[in-house]
Amino acid sequence: MLLVVDDQPAIRHLLKEALAVEGYEVELAANGREAVAKVQERCPDLVLLDLKMPGMSGLETLEQIHSIAPQVPVILITAYGELSNPGKAERMGVKCLIFKPFDLNKVRAVVRKVLAETSLQSV
Ligand SMILES: [Mg+2]
Repeated sequence: MLLVVDDQPAIRHLLKEALAVEGYEVELAANGREAVAKVQERCPDLVLLDLKMPGMSGLETLEQIHSIAPQVPVILITAYGELSNPGKAERMGVKCLIFKPFDLNKVRAVVRKVLAETSLQSV
């Protein structure tokens, strides 16, 4: 299951559709708290996480997700200039960054790549 976390409904649903046509099961969360609750319920194979959200930020959400599920790969969705410290995100375990506005084909390619890498590591 892939978990998509973004405060903008249009983006959540766009990503869900784009990934569902590839055959992935997709769950949605509108904010960090919802995302953490979903991860507690069931560990996703991958999380697509918006950086800028009201309330809990993407990086705060990332910390909490990784305290529950340290192994889950996280792709951070951001806009140019929003992430002041990309090195920090990397050290926090972000696998990959996707910049808004994103190309859905690229998103699908990145998801495929990160999932492939993750399954190799777990063998
Ligand atoms: Mg946002």
